[in-house]
Amino acid sequence: MTYFTGYRCTQCGAKYPLGELIYLCPSCSRDYHAGMPLKGILECEYDYPAIKREWEEFLIALPHAHEYGKMEELCRLFGPLEKELYPNLPVGKTPLVSTQSLSGEMLYLKFDGVNPSGSFKDRASYLMVAEAKRLGFREIVAASTGNAASSLAAICASAGIKAVIFAPASAPQAKLVQIRIHGAELHTVDGTYDDAFAAALDYSKTHECLNRNTAYHAFTIEGKKTAGLELFAQMPLPPDYIFVPTGDGVILSGIAKAFRDLRQAGLLENVPALVAAQAETSDAITSYWESGNYMDAARPHTVADSISVKTPSAAHLAVQELRDSGGMAIRVSDAEILSAQKMLAQRSGIFCEPSSAATLAAYFNCREQGKIKDQASVVLMLTGHGLKDIQAVKFAE
Ligand SMILES: [Zn+2]
Repeated sequence: MTYFTGYRCTQCGAKYPLGELIYLCPSCSRDYHAGMPLKGILECEYDYPAIKREWEEFLIALPHAHEYGKMEELCRLFGPLEKELYPNLPVGKTPLVSTQSLSGEMLYLKFDGVNPSGSFKDRASYLMVAEAKRLGFREIVAASTGNAASSLAAICASAGIKAVIFAPASAPQAKLVQIRIHGAELHTVDGTYDDAFAAALDYSKTHECLNRNTAYHAFTIEGKKTAGLELFAQMPLPPDYIFVPTGDGVILSGIAKAFRDLRQAGLLENVPALVAAQAETSDAITSYWESGNYMDAARPHTVADSISVKTPSAAHLAVQELRDSGGMAIRVSDAEILSAQKMLAQRSGIFCEPSSAATLAAYFNCREQGKIKDQASVVLMLTGHGLKDIQAVKFAE
């Protein structure tokens, strides 16, 4: 059994039952078209008092459940689908590394590059493959800058489901290789990620398949939520700040949802402040957070390909989460990103993608400008493995 009670629209609050396939809130998304941030993104709701009861009983039976290794139980309580539907390939339960070697202060690094495809995106693919199994779909389509696609290709392969990918031809070679070796059908798009997003939407309207475009289905956010639940389970106290590489704003929204769910279930009082780390030319969410008005990023062009987005699909939701959590959004340059990537590799032993290193660059930026309080407990989300884009490193040399 699960405690999932249905969907709620993050824009108008309308509720929808679990049952047939649903993507966006039908009334809020009526005038949505590709090329604008998504409207009427749905989120999952749960029977929170029942979860609280079960978690408390679990803690009585297993008083050290907060120690690493016990989070599966917590993730299950806040998960929308039956365990039997999940793929066999293990996803998540990634390490949290503490280090003082980067800044002198203690920093916690949540390294998701150790997921099966080398990326955080496996968390969303995992749940979407389970949803495809529930609904009887044999095919899932996705648009991606590379990581969501290589992730979907891998997780689909583990479950015998066909993956159809739309990705920019300019995606890093290693990610395109991953897509091919896992047997996915790859359509390269002469254009940007935003063009690929539109192409995948068109495809799913005319084919019998599930669409995994980020934030389009509530489970893409819900899958990403598991990283926030793991942080809660891995740390004795929730962190003060979580720095998140931010392109579309969906990882940020997923982590925010974890802490909102925990608060709603009465397991937590204060949610961590979320900090969106953006590349300076791909800064639509930062500009939106600063001005209150949405505008596309003018011309995204960054070495951090995973967060290079002109029109962030979850812009509205991500900015709402930044405000609700008391967080902020920070721009960093490619030079700062590449220097942070090198520092992480040389001082922590973690080789992460440029987009992941944007979190460390943003952290230094915040500290210099006095934007975070002293002695704060800080988590940096490192969402992808550095081997996915070795060209970026060559570029830095
Ligand atoms: Zn709505």
